Amino acid sequence: MERTGSPKFTTNSGTKRKGDIMKLNTLKTLYINELRDLYNAENQLVKALPKMAKAASSQGLKQAFEKHLEQTESHVERLEQVFQELDEKPKGKTCHAMKGLIEEGSEILHKDGDESVIDAGIIVAAQKVEHYEIASYGSVRTFAQLLGKDRSADLLQTTLEEESETNELLNKLAEDIVNPEALVESELVGASSER
Ligand code: FE
Ligand code: FE
Repeated sequence: MERTGSPKFTTNSGTKRKGDIMKLNTLKTLYINELRDLYNAENQLVKALPKMAKAASSQGLKQAFEKHLEQTESHVERLEQVFQELDEKPKGKTCHAMKGLIEEGSEILHKDGDESVIDAGIIVAAQKVEHYEIASYGSVRTFAQLLGKDRSADLLQTTLEEESETNELLNKLAEDIVNPEALVESELVGASSER
């Protein structure tokens, strides 16, 4: 059943918008909607990743963010190619979820405390971002397949794999960085003097 609660708009392609309202009548429209969300999210990350690299104390973690920044730049380019296959101009739509994830993450970047604990906190923030991206790319990759956009499906799958690999790398780094014994020890030692 069609939902008619949203304001009317004129359209010739099914994707024209009035204000920020996009009527979701077709899978293609939803696909474009999600691509715009991702395009904005990736561009937000291009700005946030250097700050995360700078704030990380572990060299391995810094390098992971620097590498993922390069990958993220190619994620933006791949999305531009995906828009091209649709004859759509690459355009973003504010991704409030990514904005919130980055905001929460930046709270950790500005905290004082034990380097390893802060690195662990930065990893948590980064993994939340990767999981968001993994969910989004999994969906748009499937939409691309359903819509017969094979080239785009391949591009989106490549990005999805890089997001998963990054998540795995962060898992490994968390194990290396966070030595539970050391962290618990220093917590006990520093119990009386809050740092
Ligand atoms: Fe990405
Ligand atoms: Fe990512």
